[in-house]
Amino acid sequence: MMGPGDDPKAPLPHVAMHAPPQAVFLDRDGTLIEHVPYLRDPADVVIRRGTREALSRLQAAAAKLFLFTNQSGVSRGLFQMAEVEAVNRRMVELLDLGAGLFTAVCVAPELPDDVPVYRKPSPRFIQEMLAAHGVAREHAWMVGDSPVDWEAGINAGVRVAAIVPDSANPKAPERRQELGISAYPTLREWVDAL
Ligand SMILES: [Mg+2]
Repeated sequence: MMGPGDDPKAPLPHVAMHAPPQAVFLDRDGTLIEHVPYLRDPADVVIRRGTREALSRLQAAAAKLFLFTNQSGVSRGLFQMAEVEAVNRRMVELLDLGAGLFTAVCVAPELPDDVPVYRKPSPRFIQEMLAAHGVAREHAWMVGDSPVDWEAGINAGVRVAAIVPDSANPKAPERRQELGISAYPTLREWVDAL
């Protein structure tokens, strides 16, 4: 199911950006798609309003897109990595912007209390991808709806944007203000501001 604004047949705007990013790291739940706690069923994937237009414009500007999602449900035994991948595939299918939409995908299965490997706020995935693709930190963004998204971006030294309303985390608005991060209702408004 897609939101109003995500009609695949609708013409997509191609307005030039002042400062197109070269790499964008995107949180999944609550950022690209509606947040569903421990989402495991591809049938429950709902693209957020504005996501498709935003990603299309970033593609047109030759930005490399990376999906970066924490999925502790894997370590909690609530679902398997294969189910996460099925949800990701469904999201890409609904977005209808090509199977190669994401240059790379990082699913971090660790629990919040585990020693993080890739789990946000670890900057490791961002750092590895910037090095692999020769992108300077000032040309890269981390965009998400949770404090761990913003902290991962800050830890990696890239630019950070918040999507609101903030996730289920009640401390998110306060943390966002502490960190001084600009907030946008959807990915589309962030891209409009670039
Ligand atoms: Mg999120």
